[in-house]
Amino acid sequence: MAGNNSGPRKPSGQLDSKKLDDVVAKAHKQRDTRMAGYREQSLKLHPWVCGRCGRAFTRENLHELTVHHKDHNHDNNPSDGSNWENLCLYCHDNEHQRFAYLVRGEGFMPEADKKSRRLTTPSPVFRIC
Ligand SMILES: [Zn+2]
Ligand SMILES: [Zn+2]
Repeated sequence: MAGNNSGPRKPSGQLDSKKLDDVVAKAHKQRDTRMAGYREQSLKLHPWVCGRCGRAFTRENLHELTVHHKDHNHDNNPSDGSNWENLCLYCHDNEHQRFAYLVRGEGFMPEADKKSRRLTTPSPVFRIC
């Protein structure tokens, strides 16, 4: 007996899924361009130096230089770069912690705390925040 083993085949909605792919691809591209935009522009407008500790960066370690939004509002991106600041990973971390503490009204963290935090290595993945 010749089997009827092949599974059921549905007539396809190929067109629809292609359209969806398109939309998704477009959205990804837009996001990527926007993200790259900040960093590219900030690195063009500002020197490759941490705005806090003054550490200078070269192409080799540029991935450790991050772009910070001064007012912590990621949607505020004036093209003159006035809301961006280049910060190294450590200073960027500190900046956000300080901001969080201020927001929570807990004041500044004690020295000891600060030191123990510095032992943890920041992730090498650059962030934009
Ligand atoms: Zn720094
Ligand atoms: Zn930031």
